[in-house]
Amino acid sequence: MAKKDFYEILGVAKGASDEDIKKAYRRLAMKHHPDRNEGNKDAEARFKEAKEAYEILSDPQKKALYDQYGHAGVDAAAGAGQGHGGGRGGFHGGAQQGQGFDDMFGMFGDIFGGGRGRGGSGQAQARRGSDLQYNMQVTLEEAVHGVAKQINVPTYVNCKTCKGSGAKKDSSKTTCSTCHGQGAVRMQQGFFSVQQTCPTCHGAGQVIKDPCDSCRGSGRQHETKKLSVKIPAGVDNGDRIRLAGEGEAGEQGAPAGDLYVQIHVQEHPMFKREESDLYCEVPISFTMACIGGELEIPTLDGKVKLKIPAETQSDKVFRLRGKGVKPLRGGATGDLLCRIVVETPVHLTKAQKELLQQFEQSLVDGKNHNPKSAGWFENVKKFFKG
Ligand SMILES: [Zn+2]
Ligand SMILES: [Zn+2]
Repeated sequence: MAKKDFYEILGVAKGASDEDIKKAYRRLAMKHHPDRNEGNKDAEARFKEAKEAYEILSDPQKKALYDQYGHAGVDAAAGAGQGHGGGRGGFHGGAQQGQGFDDMFGMFGDIFGGGRGRGGSGQAQARRGSDLQYNMQVTLEEAVHGVAKQINVPTYVNCKTCKGSGAKKDSSKTTCSTCHGQGAVRMQQGFFSVQQTCPTCHGAGQVIKDPCDSCRGSGRQHETKKLSVKIPAGVDNGDRIRLAGEGEAGEQGAPAGDLYVQIHVQEHPMFKREESDLYCEVPISFTMACIGGELEIPTLDGKVKLKIPAETQSDKVFRLRGKGVKPLRGGATGDLLCRIVVETPVHLTKAQKELLQQFEQSLVDGKNHNPKSAGWFENVKKFFKG
């Protein structure tokens, strides 16, 4: 099924301002909010759709990706986390439902200035799973071209026996009698009334009469999860990729945390990267520096020819346009900057040295072959006089 355009969903033009996008989302969220449309599946779907579109278009990074690559761009960045519902083996029932709605209300709370968060009136939420961070080493080539990598993440997943509920089969959960299902209790401390997580149910609002044997009621179990992570082309050192819902499973069916993949780009023997440009050093022989020639230069996309003009000096920089990095967040592809280093020949034989002496004499007899040296000697003379 082809996904609808996010701008179309919100009913705004592609170049719409952040303010207009926010307004459009607010209007749709009000109209289709589940509280106002109880049991209306269509409204719920539209609410979710609008929320997803807004999440992308209100985030400058994701928006830039979406504008450039469409759904593929944001799907790649979000990796396996995109699209609750499909392809999330091991996360069933309660966890998924819970996540969807928690997200929604969290979002709704944000935009209307709070009041809808957990711990307020209404149903209690068990503890959400922790977020995880995975440090991923990539080569410069992988960062520039993008790569898919298998990673192993030691984490908690929903208990296979009880599917995350924490309760033994056929035994049901009952409302916690301490907090009456609120998940929190009010304590009087002097003049203040303080709300605390319920000590009996730890915030779940329910207690398990007969806990699952495999997980002892926690609803989760330890497992090393294998994940395939898509690293989008153009990532740089320090970039972080969020895989929604791929963190630790929550307790007793609570929503899972997120997994953040932190990118570490290894040093490359030849290239250094700065933003979207690449830098490299190119040694050339003394002779080539004098009379010019042609060199094959490696780039991350294969070899290219570089013409060295006659009389090229050390430190001269040649810019190869478009041979740098295509930035992840849009914009022009960078350049490859090659800095020339003229190499002084070593291990010279007697015969070679004699040739050079003859050559040097021809320079002395000649005319203005070393303007830089000549200028320098002039300055030295002035310096000692002054
Ligand atoms: Zn269990
Ligand atoms: Zn309780």
